Amino acid sequence: MRADVAGLSFRGRTASIGFARGPFVRISASQNSVRVAGEPEDEVLALREAIESASEQIAELAAAAGGEAAQILEFQVALLEDEDFIDPIFATIGEGAAADKAWASALDEQIADYNAASDEYLQARSADLADLRDRVLRILRGGEKHAPKIAGGAVVCAEDLPPSRFLEIDWSPGGGLALLRGSPTSHVAMLARARGIPMVVQLGALPDAATALLDGESATLELDPGAEQITLFERRREAHRKSRASARAILRRPAATWRGERIRLLINIQRVEDLDHADAQYADGIGLMRTEFLLSAPGGMPDEETQYRAYDEVLRWADKKPVTIRTFDAGGDKPVAGFTPEGEANPFLGLRGLRLCLARPDLFKVQLRALARAAVRGNLKVMFPMVTVPAELEAARALFAEAVADLQAQGIATMLPELGIMVEVPAAAMAIGDFKASFFSIGSNDLAQYVLACDRSNGALGTLMDPLHPAVLELIVRTAEHGRRSGAPVSLCGDMASEPRCVPQLLYCGLRELSVNAPSLAQIKQTIDRLSRGGSGG
Ligand code: PEP
Ligand code: MG
Repeated sequence: MRADVAGLSFRGRTASIGFARGPFVRISASQNSVRVAGEPEDEVLALREAIESASEQIAELAAAAGGEAAQILEFQVALLEDEDFIDPIFATIGEGAAADKAWASALDEQIADYNAASDEYLQARSADLADLRDRVLRILRGGEKHAPKIAGGAVVCAEDLPPSRFLEIDWSPGGGLALLRGSPTSHVAMLARARGIPMVVQLGALPDAATALLDGESATLELDPGAEQITLFERRREAHRKSRASARAILRRPAATWRGERIRLLINIQRVEDLDHADAQYADGIGLMRTEFLLSAPGGMPDEETQYRAYDEVLRWADKKPVTIRTFDAGGDKPVAGFTPEGEANPFLGLRGLRLCLARPDLFKVQLRALARAAVRGNLKVMFPMVTVPAELEAARALFAEAVADLQAQGIATMLPELGIMVEVPAAAMAIGDFKASFFSIGSNDLAQYVLACDRSNGALGTLMDPLHPAVLELIVRTAEHGRRSGAPVSLCGDMASEPRCVPQLLYCGLRELSVNAPSLAQIKQTIDRLSRGGSGG
């Protein structure tokens, strides 16, 4: 939405607070439509070029990733160079097939073969193949030929961005994200908040520009700004820095309500590196580790050892503090090639979270083994996402017990950790008393999505998608009350816990444990501090 024509200012909605000033870089994130087939010789050439570009992209990724990840990527490059595999595809194209169709069906066949293998290693390779299939298809269907090279600290602009593309961008020099569409409740927004990357969504059509100022607090984007705009922007940035500094001053104090009841504030992480955030050390523990982001590493499905090392590192960091690790929540808007089903009409209502893991016990068991081994190393709790009925929890418990027994038979130190569930499907919240879980964690992002019938990543539904809707709050109260009566701890780990405006209501609903994004910890503590001293909290 254009806010000021002369100054080229645009206003959208805040998805992640913060400020970015730098080059304005536009990238495309679409998978693009099906290709219209040209003459066979043109199609052969198109596929040859796409394969070449894909090899270059993979080489770039391997060089950046290094070590084990680079070795895994070599598998993809080797396949692209394997004439026995590639030549029959060119032959099919010679007979009149479109390049993208011929490529996709050859890869789909291979993926099915790998999936059917009894060897776990071969099965895991199917994710690499799916990644390769999608990369070449993206190029063939008009996507970028090279992995986007983003200048340090750039304001990256896209129509919308899936989480996998966000993770491909190197954010270490800073920068920000400006989306023409998008939503503050999408997973990519959640990733941006966790990493402290400013992000503004729903900006509408934007012209090209050389430089930009992105203000995640006032949800504005200024293109090719003049000197005065830059001065005002830097003033706002400085004011934001000061207010954050004053919030950080209370980080060391424990949070409590006006009646002196202790409030535990934990943090959400998606990867071990998120613990590097300066405020993370002041958290009471880790309330949610979203493990599905381990699946976006270049090598595809991580093996037991890789997963064990990641969980162990988090537990070592936490020392004696509690760490709640959530099993893979793939599916919905977090598709994982080779793992999540393709072509579902309603992925949010489909095979995602625990449903998918129970349908793929081979892959799930690898994660459960890694978690059972990590459980002896610290204060670990494990929870399952997208649980609808108690039978799912019991099936997961039985698989976990099997994994523990197998490990014990091998003489490997292991234990069954406490098991809990995410409360994010309305049916689970309504029948909460039926679940024999050791603890509950309310996933308000999905709970609101399903209660309000609003796709959480659809920006057009912005105002309807309100987690403070009385129907959502009623289910939160119900879950908190069940926890109080049964003695099972209840926390909330959805994004509303990181929003100061929601915190008074959450405490009023009876919650005393919240899990927030590390960059929001100081502000949420400050909000609770003000509330306990009789202020408005905002
Ligand atoms: C939620 O749904 O609130 C949640 C914490 O899980 P995710 O955002 O990963 O779906
Ligand atoms: Mg969820």
